[in-house]
Amino acid sequence: MAQSQQLKKDESVEEAYFTLRSGHRIPALGLGTWKAETNVVRDAVYNAIVECGYRHIDCAHIYGNEKEVGEGLQMAFDAGIKREDIFVTSKLWIKSCVPEKVRPALDTTLSDLGLKYVDLYLIHWPICLSEDASSPPKKGQVLPFDTVGVWREMEKLVEQKLVRDIGVSNFTVKKLEHLLANSTIKPSVNQVEMHPSWRNDNVLNYCKKENIHVTAYSPLGSSSTDLFHAEEVIQTSEKVGKTPGEIMIRWLIQRGVSTIPKSSNKERIKENMRVFDFKIPDEDMQKLSSVPTQKRTNPGGELIVTSEEEKESILREFWEGEL
Ligand code: NDP
Repeated sequence: MAQSQQLKKDESVEEAYFTLRSGHRIPALGLGTWKAETNVVRDAVYNAIVECGYRHIDCAHIYGNEKEVGEGLQMAFDAGIKREDIFVTSKLWIKSCVPEKVRPALDTTLSDLGLKYVDLYLIHWPICLSEDASSPPKKGQVLPFDTVGVWREMEKLVEQKLVRDIGVSNFTVKKLEHLLANSTIKPSVNQVEMHPSWRNDNVLNYCKKENIHVTAYSPLGSSSTDLFHAEEVIQTSEKVGKTPGEIMIRWLIQRGVSTIPKSSNKERIKENMRVFDFKIPDEDMQKLSSVPTQKRTNPGGELIVTSEEEKESILREFWEGEL
């Protein structure tokens, strides 16, 4: 017998958005587009918005599909959806993480997406690589990251009304502290990995204290882990009468976090949106928050590790020991 708690209609409408420190609202659920093939992402974006009610699309220059995402957005606008009702996030790639490349990088993204502004622009990773860097990079290709200089250019994008909010991604507590102490416009969002096998509690608690909204990426454990068969997820899914995907997404929203599951499949896009008409009971929230094995799926080694022998120490330093 399913034991989910039904939400009243106005409760679920209220839950569909979180308010950022800027006063703007971010939808609690968006569509991820990493690894979404260029030949399918256009329809995925259109279906998500027009047929399934998504109002947030998460993109990035490095995903190599912003043109096709833009075509999907345009199809949605042609179908009568208003630009101001859609929240678009994009991200500054690490090879453009120097002050003079910030504006040109955003210009490319806006042109690819076919938009005059994005709602949220994030520093994708607190890393700066040279233009010719390989993956993984070689010594000398990882450059010092000028957080304050890059952020100042991000602030200018807000002043120029090319972006409505600015934020960061993959920032640890120490990196956030440094940014908060050296910024005029504070980051609205920190987008980080979060799912039952990577709760990321320290960053979440710090962000809540500092009024930085958290968006969870890889909410389903990404394509490389199988959280769909985790005992805690299955047990809650059976008890509450919702699919494992719905449970993982709903768990995040009840933690006060927005999220951006990726799917290119019409049925799964629809399924992932069915999270606003039920509530996971407290004891099951606790169970989902007690998965013993905690491990990042996306430590970013290919972005910063310059030698196999130093891998562990480089990653430990980058993530302040939280791996
Ligand atoms: P997700 O956790 O969203 O998982 C995506 C995988 O799950 C895909 O293989 C998808 O396949 C499958 N899937 C989706 N819905 C379901 C479902 N209901 N049931 C079963 N399988 C399902 O992983 P991502 O790593 O893609 O993270 C989501 C988004 O977060 C990214 O797309 C990107 O936008 C963002 N991101 C940001 C990062 C950053 O550094 N800021 C890093 C990583 C991600 P299918 O498409 O076939 O449905």
